[in-house]
Amino acid sequence: MSHSIRENITQIRQEIGNAELVVVSKYRSIEELNQVYETNQRNFAENRVQELTKKKELMPDDIHWHMIGNLQTNKVKFIAPFIHLIQSVDRIKLLKEINKEAKKNNRVIPILFQVHIAEEEHKFGFSLYDLTTMIESNQLSEFNNIEVKGLMGMATNTTDKKIVTTEFIKLKSFFDKWKNQMNWSTLSMGMSGDYIEAIECGSTLIRVGSKIFQ
Ligand SMILES: *Cc1c(COP(=O)(O)O)cnc(C)c1O
Repeated sequence: MSHSIRENITQIRQEIGNAELVVVSKYRSIEELNQVYETNQRNFAENRVQELTKKKELMPDDIHWHMIGNLQTNKVKFIAPFIHLIQSVDRIKLLKEINKEAKKNNRVIPILFQVHIAEEEHKFGFSLYDLTTMIESNQLSEFNNIEVKGLMGMATNTTDKKIVTTEFIKLKSFFDKWKNQMNWSTLSMGMSGDYIEAIECGSTLIRVGSKIFQ
């Protein structure tokens, strides 16, 4: 039996306690997004700029839009005026562009650093080594129009929960090591297949798509 969007969201909210649910609405219709909105959900995430800006036009104004996909520098300008949180910042060049566009819009844009924690080759993100180097070099102080809120990571896509948990713990440890000094509040980890493990490992924000719309 297929569950309704409302039932799925209610169940997930119960499972994650105080953590924040961001609904990943990529590929989904406006009708489906409206069903999500009617459950009082206000945080939505998309992974493509064109789809994100199109849906923003068609949906109510009080939605907080998150960017979670690989972001090209030449597309930053389209989301800079309104984006709530860019979770997929994976290179310095992108930081520079976001800072520039944020300044133009007279705002400070919140971001997360995407960290590469999975064994898989194709996942984007900083290595923990590169992130450490960047933090210690004090390079971030030049970006006055960016607020780094924390980290985002994706675990290996496997049913082996031991691998997934090991990767989440690695990211959580790094987060804890720097959170006070860096003033980080947000650790974004967990998707449809692994959000329960992510919450157990200390996630503060989960990004769930398919489980809600199944
Ligand atoms: C698609 C996507 C999600 C959601 O994945 P589901 O398995 O559908 O819950 C979460 N995070 C990122 C970065 C994604 O691209």
